[in-house]
Amino acid sequence: MSDPGTIARQDSPAFDVDGMLGRLAKWLRILGFDTAFPLSAPSEWRFFVTTRKGAHSPGVIRVFGGTIEEQLREVFDRAGIDPDPDRVFSRCLVCNAVVEEVPRDSIEGKVPAHVFSTKSTFHRCPQCGRVYWEGSHEAKVRKRLEGMGIFVAGESGL
Ligand SMILES: [Zn+2]
Repeated sequence: MSDPGTIARQDSPAFDVDGMLGRLAKWLRILGFDTAFPLSAPSEWRFFVTTRKGAHSPGVIRVFGGTIEEQLREVFDRAGIDPDPDRVFSRCLVCNAVVEEVPRDSIEGKVPAHVFSTKSTFHRCPQCGRVYWEGSHEAKVRKRLEGMGIFVAGESGL
Protein backbone atom coordinates (compact mmCIF):
# COMPACT_ATOMS: atom_id res chain seq x y z
CA MET A 1 0.00 0.00 0.00
CA SER A 2 1.40 3.38 -1.01
CA ASP A 3 1.15 6.34 1.30
CA PRO A 4 -1.83 8.67 0.67
CA GLY A 5 0.35 11.62 -0.30
CA THR A 6 1.95 9.62 -3.09
CA ILE A 7 -1.42 8.49 -4.41
CA ALA A 8 -2.84 12.02 -4.29
CA ARG A 9 0.13 13.40 -6.23
CA GLN A 10 -0.61 11.18 -9.20
CA ASP A 11 -1.86 13.00 -12.27
CA SER A 12 -5.37 11.85 -11.45
CA PRO A 13 -5.95 9.89 -8.27
CA ALA A 14 -7.80 6.61 -8.68
CA PHE A 15 -10.26 4.93 -6.35
CA ASP A 16 -11.44 1.45 -5.53
CA VAL A 17 -14.86 1.69 -3.96
CA ASP A 18 -16.32 -0.89 -1.60
CA GLY A 19 -19.54 -2.69 -2.57
CA MET A 20 -21.79 -0.73 -0.21
CA LEU A 21 -20.98 2.62 -1.84
CA GLY A 22 -22.40 2.36 -5.35
CA ARG A 23 -23.80 5.88 -5.45
CA LEU A 24 -20.52 7.35 -4.28
CA ALA A 25 -18.71 5.35 -6.98
CA LYS A 26 -21.04 6.79 -9.62
CA TRP A 27 -20.41 10.34 -8.42
CA LEU A 28 -16.65 9.83 -8.45
CA ARG A 29 -17.02 8.73 -12.08
CA ILE A 30 -19.19 11.76 -12.85
CA LEU A 31 -16.33 13.85 -11.49
CA GLY A 32 -13.95 12.05 -13.84
CA PHE A 33 -12.01 9.92 -11.37
CA ASP A 34 -10.84 6.46 -12.32
CA THR A 35 -13.21 4.50 -10.07
CA ALA A 36 -13.34 0.72 -9.82
CA PHE A 37 -16.54 -0.68 -8.35
CA PRO A 38 -17.28 -2.98 -6.72
CA LEU A 39 -13.93 -3.95 -5.34
CA SER A 40 -13.25 -5.36 -1.93
CA ALA A 41 -9.47 -5.60 -1.85
CA PRO A 42 -7.14 -2.59 -1.77
CA SER A 43 -4.60 -2.34 -4.55
CA GLU A 44 -1.45 -0.33 -4.74
CA TRP A 45 -1.60 3.19 -6.21
CA ARG A 46 -5.31 3.50 -5.62
CA PHE A 47 -7.32 4.84 -2.73
CA PHE A 48 -9.66 2.30 -1.20
CA VAL A 49 -12.96 3.85 -0.09
CA THR A 50 -15.03 1.91 2.41
CA THR A 51 -17.49 2.19 5.30
CA ARG A 52 -15.97 -0.78 7.10
CA LYS A 53 -14.48 -0.54 10.57
CA GLY A 54 -10.87 -1.32 11.18
CA ALA A 55 -9.70 -0.03 7.83
CA HIS A 56 -6.85 2.12 9.01
CA SER A 57 -3.99 1.47 6.62
CA PRO A 58 -2.61 4.34 4.55
CA GLY A 59 -4.49 4.79 1.30
CA VAL A 60 -7.72 3.60 2.89
CA ILE A 61 -10.47 6.19 3.23
CA ARG A 62 -13.30 5.32 5.58
CA VAL A 63 -16.46 7.35 5.02
CA PHE A 64 -19.08 8.06 7.66
CA GLY A 65 -21.41 10.54 5.98
CA GLY A 66 -24.93 9.61 4.96
CA THR A 67 -25.28 11.91 1.95
CA ILE A 68 -23.31 12.02 -1.28
CA GLU A 69 -22.17 15.55 -0.47
CA GLU A 70 -20.79 14.44 2.90
CA GLN A 71 -19.17 11.34 1.48
CA LEU A 72 -17.48 13.19 -1.39
CA ARG A 73 -16.23 15.84 1.01
CA GLU A 74 -14.74 13.15 3.26
CA VAL A 75 -13.05 11.47 0.31
CA PHE A 76 -11.53 14.71 -0.99
CA ASP A 77 -10.42 15.86 2.47
CA ARG A 78 -8.78 12.54 3.27
CA ALA A 79 -7.23 12.24 -0.17
CA GLY A 80 -6.05 15.85 -0.05
CA ILE A 81 -7.40 16.60 -3.52
CA ASP A 82 -9.96 18.82 -5.20
CA PRO A 83 -12.07 17.65 -8.12
CA ASP A 84 -11.05 19.18 -11.43
CA PRO A 85 -14.05 20.78 -13.20
CA ASP A 86 -12.43 20.04 -16.56
CA ARG A 87 -12.71 16.33 -15.86
CA VAL A 88 -16.39 16.26 -14.95
CA PHE A 89 -18.41 14.09 -17.35
CA SER A 90 -15.22 12.67 -18.86
CA ARG A 91 -15.86 9.03 -17.97
CA CYS A 92 -18.39 6.35 -18.85
CA LEU A 93 -20.61 5.87 -15.82
CA VAL A 94 -21.09 2.21 -16.67
CA CYS A 95 -17.59 0.93 -17.35
CA ASN A 96 -15.27 3.71 -16.12
CA ALA A 97 -13.51 4.24 -19.47
CA VAL A 98 -12.63 7.78 -20.58
CA VAL A 99 -15.20 8.88 -23.18
CA GLU A 100 -14.18 10.46 -26.48
CA GLU A 101 -15.83 13.27 -28.34
CA VAL A 102 -17.21 11.96 -31.61
CA PRO A 103 -18.28 13.78 -34.77
CA ARG A 104 -21.98 14.51 -34.72
CA ASP A 105 -22.50 12.80 -38.07
CA SER A 106 -21.13 9.53 -36.77
CA ILE A 107 -23.90 9.01 -34.24
CA GLU A 108 -26.88 9.78 -36.45
CA GLY A 109 -29.39 6.97 -35.99
CA LYS A 110 -27.66 5.82 -32.81
CA VAL A 111 -29.44 8.30 -30.55
CA PRO A 112 -33.10 9.37 -30.53
CA ALA A 113 -33.92 11.75 -33.40
CA HIS A 114 -34.98 14.60 -31.12
CA VAL A 115 -31.67 14.32 -29.29
CA PHE A 116 -29.70 14.31 -32.51
CA SER A 117 -31.50 17.38 -33.81
CA THR A 118 -31.16 19.44 -30.62
CA LYS A 119 -27.68 18.57 -29.32
CA SER A 120 -24.37 19.53 -30.83
CA THR A 121 -21.78 17.66 -28.78
CA PHE A 122 -21.60 13.91 -28.31
CA HIS A 123 -19.18 11.62 -26.53
CA ARG A 124 -18.84 7.88 -26.87
CA CYS A 125 -17.37 5.27 -24.57
CA PRO A 126 -14.67 3.36 -26.47
CA GLN A 127 -15.31 0.32 -24.33
CA CYS A 128 -19.09 -0.20 -24.31
CA GLY A 129 -20.09 2.16 -27.15
CA ARG A 130 -22.57 4.08 -25.02
CA VAL A 131 -23.19 7.59 -26.38
CA TYR A 132 -23.45 10.53 -24.01
CA TRP A 133 -24.88 13.97 -24.56
CA GLU A 134 -25.88 16.85 -22.41
CA GLY A 135 -29.43 16.52 -21.13
CA SER A 136 -31.68 17.54 -18.27
CA HIS A 137 -30.07 14.94 -16.02
CA GLU A 138 -26.69 16.61 -16.45
CA ALA A 139 -28.18 20.00 -15.62
CA LYS A 140 -29.35 18.53 -12.31
CA VAL A 141 -25.96 17.00 -11.69
CA ARG A 142 -24.32 20.35 -12.39
CA LYS A 143 -26.66 22.06 -9.94
CA ARG A 144 -25.83 19.55 -7.25
CA LEU A 145 -22.10 19.94 -7.89
CA GLU A 146 -22.47 23.68 -7.54
CA GLY A 147 -23.93 23.03 -4.11
CA MET A 148 -20.63 21.34 -3.30
CA GLY A 149 -18.63 24.26 -4.63
CA ILE A 150 -17.73 22.54 -7.91
CA PHE A 151 -18.59 24.64 -10.92
CA VAL A 152 -18.82 23.12 -14.37
CA ALA A 153 -19.40 25.00 -17.59
CA GLY A 154 -22.36 24.04 -19.78
CA GLU A 155 -22.23 21.76 -22.83
CA SER A 156 -19.30 19.96 -21.29
CA GLY A 157 -19.79 16.45 -22.47
CA LEU A 158 -22.43 14.11 -21.14
ZN1 LIG B 1 -18.71 2.40 -21.21
